[in-house]
Amino acid sequence: MKLVEKENCFLIEDFFPLNIIAGFTKPSLKGVLPEDIKEIMSSLGINPDVSSMNQRHSAEIFQVNKPGVYEGDAIFTRQKNHVLVVKTADCLPIIFCSEDTKVIGVIHMGWRSADKGIFENIYKSVFNNKNENTVYKIALGPGLRSCCYKVGTEFLNYPKIKDYLELRKNNLYFDPVKAVKQYTVKNDYNKFSFYDTGVCTFCSDKGFFSYRKFFDNNRTLSFISNN
Ligand SMILES: [Zn+2]
Repeated sequence: MKLVEKENCFLIEDFFPLNIIAGFTKPSLKGVLPEDIKEIMSSLGINPDVSSMNQRHSAEIFQVNKPGVYEGDAIFTRQKNHVLVVKTADCLPIIFCSEDTKVIGVIHMGWRSADKGIFENIYKSVFNNKNENTVYKIALGPGLRSCCYKVGTEFLNYPKIKDYLELRKNNLYFDPVKAVKQYTVKNDYNKFSFYDTGVCTFCSDKGFFSYRKFFDNNRTLSFISNN
């Protein structure tokens, strides 16, 4: 698995099945929807339907059967030629697919969504597959990581967050990657395969958008499409 740099995006290669196109935009695009994603898709020679979200830091998830803008924080589909997009600037974008069940999806993983139970909802609707041969592949895009995800002591009161805090030099840090991995692998009836891009939006030198750093409206778009 590797990141392949294109003009306006990075593509995740040698991880998902060959018919999957997945990746995230470079800061040369500011995250304008749907224009930026259409530009990327057309540069890759495809013209899929586009679905994205009005993200609300909720646990709302949607199965998508027609293109649109959905009021929630995760969308998934079994359709082909339909790109799903999540926009982030510090929250962790999660991209997943399963070759066996033909599902693809994106999750906006902020601490609020996690605390409200977005993973439990995705489990019930997507990953709740008793076939033990089914493999889900999960890629983690650019986001604030535990190196820079400093939080207040009130996080100790959030039941679904508190297990993923680290204490360093009297400060608490949230580890969203650890949270994603433990939420998934603790359900032992499925197999999961992870690819972590390892990009921290706050300390990367590549200029990825970080709300905590820049306080602006620019967003990275992470996407997946089955073609
Ligand atoms: Zn960092």
